[in-house]
Amino acid sequence: MEEEDLYQRRIASRFAAFDQDGNGYISREDFTTAATRLLDEFGTPFRSDKGQALSGGAEAFWQGLAGIADVDGDQRVTRGEFVGGAVKRLRDSPDRFAEIARPFVRAVLAVADVDGDGQAEPAGLERALRVLGVDSHTAALVAESLDVERSGRIDEEEAVSAFGRYFMTSES
Ligand code: CA
Ligand code: CA
Repeated sequence: MEEEDLYQRRIASRFAAFDQDGNGYISREDFTTAATRLLDEFGTPFRSDKGQALSGGAEAFWQGLAGIADVDGDQRVTRGEFVGGAVKRLRDSPDRFAEIARPFVRAVLAVADVDGDGQAEPAGLERALRVLGVDSHTAALVAESLDVERSGRIDEEEAVSAFGRYFMTSES
């Protein structure tokens, strides 16, 4: 029972991470809100290649999530739909979720590549995560852990699969 409580709490925090505008359900607006916040933070123009990739990735992510979780097709993923649809169906296949998120994650890393050398640095990713509502401590830990080779660069594959694991497994 306690385990179930813990699991429910984790689901709630995952749901809150998606519900960027905090109105109680997940919709396309949450994804456009996330993209806009990121572009603002890094001063990236919407009409730039990076801006277009981010907005395209956010839309693809929303479509993918809605395809799995928006059971009644009202363009809103409620908490019930999130738990019943997304989490149950993807819990055992975080890879599938990672693929849905991949274009978005890749675009976030591109925006967070502040020195333009083609790869995001941990500090850039940390900033991006904070903009998306991740607390500073966790953002720093995640960014550090995704610099797998301690090269000062974020590993994209690792970032994509970590993203899938975070949202879709019952690990903390
Ligand atoms: Ca929302
Ligand atoms: Ca719905």
